[in-house]
Amino acid sequence: MNEEFSRLEQHLKTLRLSCFLSSYQRVANQSAKANHSYTEFLSVLAEQEVHKRVESAIAGRVRAAKFPQLKTLDTFDFAAQPALKKKQLIQLHQCHFLREKSNVIFIGPCGTGKTHLSIALGHEACAQGYRVYFSTAAGLINTLIEAKHEYRLQKKMKQLCRFDLIICDELGYIPFDREGTDFLFQLVAARYEQGSMIVTTNLPFSEWTNVFHDSATAAAVVDRLVHHSTILQIQGDSYRLAQKVASSKT
Ligand code: ADP
Ligand code: MG
Repeated sequence: MNEEFSRLEQHLKTLRLSCFLSSYQRVANQSAKANHSYTEFLSVLAEQEVHKRVESAIAGRVRAAKFPQLKTLDTFDFAAQPALKKKQLIQLHQCHFLREKSNVIFIGPCGTGKTHLSIALGHEACAQGYRVYFSTAAGLINTLIEAKHEYRLQKKMKQLCRFDLIICDELGYIPFDREGTDFLFQLVAARYEQGSMIVTTNLPFSEWTNVFHDSATAAAVVDRLVHHSTILQIQGDSYRLAQKVASSKT
């Protein structure tokens, strides 16, 4: 029996069926007690292996997305943000917008939950099997400038276009030079109707000329982003500040 088991162990290792290996003895004992058929026994083991692989693939996609924190829709307090329709966010959370290759744009002041919601949508996208990349607008522009200096801008663009969803956080917070914003425009243009973006910004569209240096480029970016998109205007005071004020009163 020991020799047989070590042979089985070796085969399972070769086949990289680690869950089979770790659960084999326990499931075998349970199946023997319950008088399960071989098929039932194998089915339980196979199910556990599949479950583990799905979970580790999700974890891999979440790691690759480089979210700054983990945020979910469950932890978002909709009562604190009456400008947002919970139903609309739940619908976006189902990720149909990714199948349609359309975009989501969060516009609102600092601290009102734009990053929180974009991470929540991105995290669910990872769970549904989509490849996601999270970056601040500054991070994205720096990555593209760096790639240009290393003569691999086109390669980087192609690499970024392979993501199903790019989250570009905090557009408008930091001014960029012309070269940087032109690269961002190229990325938006390359992804138009090919892949989705979530953009968060504190600036209304009318002020995007301040980011993109001239009204023609700003209009071209807005046009491509907005054509197939959901635009969510967030209002009100910073949630962080409101929490701080509430806690200092108690
Ligand atoms: P923004 O990106 O709009 O500046 P964040 O998403 O970074 O704001 O939110 C700031 C902090 O407040 C985060 O920790 C976030 O989780 C929290 N927060 C903001 N709005 C809400 C909300 N309505 N419910 C729960 N947490 C919130
Ligand atoms: Mg933010």
